[in-house]
Amino acid sequence: MTVLKANCQKRRKTVRMSCIGKDRTNGALCKLTVLLIYSIQLKTDGDSLLKKTICLIAVAAVLTSCGNYSADEQVSQTIFAMDTYMTVTAYTDGCGTEKASAAVSECLDEIARLDKLWNVNDAQSDFARINGGGKATVSADTAELISFALDMNEKTGGALDITLLPVLREWGFTTGEYRVPDDDTLAALRENIGSDKVTLSGNTVSVQKGTMITPGAVAKGITGDIVSEIMRKNGVSSAMIDLGGNIQTVGKKPGGSYWKIGLKDPRGQGIFGTVEISDMAVVTSGGYERYFEQDGAAYWHILDPKTGRPAQSGIISATVIGGEGSLCDALSTAFFVMGEQQTEDYWRRSGGFDFVLVTDDDRVIISEGIKDRYTSNGLYGEPEVICFE
Ligand code: ADP
Ligand code: MG
Repeated sequence: MTVLKANCQKRRKTVRMSCIGKDRTNGALCKLTVLLIYSIQLKTDGDSLLKKTICLIAVAAVLTSCGNYSADEQVSQTIFAMDTYMTVTAYTDGCGTEKASAAVSECLDEIARLDKLWNVNDAQSDFARINGGGKATVSADTAELISFALDMNEKTGGALDITLLPVLREWGFTTGEYRVPDDDTLAALRENIGSDKVTLSGNTVSVQKGTMITPGAVAKGITGDIVSEIMRKNGVSSAMIDLGGNIQTVGKKPGGSYWKIGLKDPRGQGIFGTVEISDMAVVTSGGYERYFEQDGAAYWHILDPKTGRPAQSGIISATVIGGEGSLCDALSTAFFVMGEQQTEDYWRRSGGFDFVLVTDDDRVIISEGIKDRYTSNGLYGEPEVICFE
């Protein structure tokens, strides 16, 4: 019998929610509202246990970022964009409520704008226009995204590739109507994969016939950088930006301590460790984020461009920590495809970021730079530390 099980498949709807308030009661209300939104999602999305678990972890993460501070001390809003809930929080310490409010408002407007540009399913979006017509002149933001993705394709030896859209559609990852494609279909679709089939000239993008592109692997990371910049420009010196699991921070926590970010356990509930950061992004790619099961096998949404199938690199969770959300997002997806050895080689070659990997044989591997700021909760034992040699 074929068993088809979907995980925390998200629904597209727009939610804009404010955490601005005058006292602690409003802070509590904010928490309740977040909880309510996620409860609704649990109800409407069906009954997979894992799905509920993942959603509840998401609740925990949001509660942490909204909690502990009174409404006088923070301004926070949530929006549903890029297929996930995004919560942007500015702390008033050092800049005041007015500036924090203005910054958060501007961030949400910007997220909504980028979502419209980059939503492949919206016929008006830059990506739909490129995919539909084979050639389109796009916004500067889109041109920059594509230029960055093409560059990262080269740097990662093809592991990150924005041309996977037709294959992702065939697997049903864009709609939730999952199926395992047959070999002939995949072979035909593989013909159109490859970043060499995309040309960028100024703000004009062309794709070869049959090739279609998706910004999915880098959009949230780039958004994190843009939103962080808006915070800084508005004078906010302390902010937490949670873009559906992509965490990006501005400065330190109010009071001067580091942000402590939990890393989700790819095998179950809770977290397997934490990293302490300031002014950095923490981005994780994991097969557990979106997947389905059929005949006892799991199929996840990160594909190996060489095969057109879910990447089987031995890594089940890849986290990248660094100053730029865009780089962290691109690399976390790429490392999930590249596996342990190639990730270590890449890090030694280029530096400028750190990583935390979880392997399918239950090891945690971290790079030297994060060693003193990573704490394991014991779930996978102490990490193996990779050093520059
Ligand atoms: P998420 O967006 O779920 O946090 P990622 O940043 O790893 O996770 O992006 C995964 C998304 O990128 C997939 O949903 C798909 O749209 C797209 N994708 C899948 N495999 C690749 C790949 N090898 N290169 C580029 N994009 C990919
Ligand atoms: Mg990514």
